[in-house]
Amino acid sequence: MALEISPQARAMMPAHLHELEPYDPKFSPCEINLSANENTHGLPTEITDELRQRLSSLELNRYPDPLATQVRERIARLYNLTCDNVLAGNGGDELLFDLFLAFAGAGRRVVLSTPTFSIYKMYATMLNCELIEVARDPETQKSNVAGLLEAAQEASLVVVCSPNNPTGELIAHETVEELLDVCSGIVVVDEAYVEFSHPNASMLPLLSKHENLVVLRTFSKAYALAGARCGYVLSNTGVIAALASVRQTYSLDSVTQALAQLVLDRHELFASSISDTVSERERLYEGLSKLTQYSPEVKLWPSEANFILVRLPQASKIRERLRDEWSILVRDFSAEAGLTNCLRITVGTHDENSRVLEALTSLVKEEA
Ligand SMILES: *Cc1c(COP(=O)(O)O)cnc(C)c1O
Repeated sequence: MALEISPQARAMMPAHLHELEPYDPKFSPCEINLSANENTHGLPTEITDELRQRLSSLELNRYPDPLATQVRERIARLYNLTCDNVLAGNGGDELLFDLFLAFAGAGRRVVLSTPTFSIYKMYATMLNCELIEVARDPETQKSNVAGLLEAAQEASLVVVCSPNNPTGELIAHETVEELLDVCSGIVVVDEAYVEFSHPNASMLPLLSKHENLVVLRTFSKAYALAGARCGYVLSNTGVIAALASVRQTYSLDSVTQALAQLVLDRHELFASSISDTVSERERLYEGLSKLTQYSPEVKLWPSEANFILVRLPQASKIRERLRDEWSILVRDFSAEAGLTNCLRITVGTHDENSRVLEALTSLVKEEA
């Protein structure tokens, strides 16, 4: 049963929290889980084997290094930065919260290009920020750049997600540069999925020119560590220190620090599952495109990430039938503004994707 806030408890919460509900990932056990954009290939066995050895030498009776220096040094080396340009945290989600805490806060303006990752709005609500949602064009899912630039002028924090979850497209470098120029606050580019895009997709090259840029990355997607909780941000040393001043001191535990070090030392082991995901994404896209012959309502958007957003007739019903009749779990966004009848399908293994295509072909024919 879902957790429920009692009326008494709600009455004791401050007014700006009265609309909040506990986060529900809408998970149900299925044979094929393509609902949370995880890396379905899992960790390479070389890494799980090495982890087993490392675990025996960890001193779990001791507190971890609060700033995860070993992890940050490895990340800094990857990007030719210094350790003080990096902050690691308990998943990208924690670092996003730190960003809202350090740079937004009550009454201060936060700008988003929506629909986008739901956590941003949740944090803006929790912290009682002034939230400006600049809607994308629901047909193209492109950002309203003029609207963003105007709203950004008075913003304390602008968050853009690139590739965007759940729509899949990249934001242009020029747009980010314009945002960085007009905004006197912080501009965060959430690059949780950037490993699945082309090599020049990242905004990292802009870091040296713009003091107000923060780039967010995570190990949860391409690096198959969603269960371990580790992400990081890259920025100038002053911004990193500001974030360090609001963070939970020991949020990155010793086991996760050891695991993140192993993954960073062996990151080349992930190249094959990343390139497999990219080629499977193209195959899934081709397959889903064929559904347009059964219904004019079917539409999909090109994706640079490890998921595809697709609009289908009767999307919620199709999502339930996928779960109940085919044991396939995908994410339903159909109730959200700008995403009418949309489902988000994570790119899985070859067999998982084939199964999804088979199931959807059958269901769309029936529901069209
Ligand atoms: C998954 C995700 C993250 C971070 O996830 P963590 O598991 O907390 O690292 C951040 N941004 C977006 C858009 C995501 O989809």
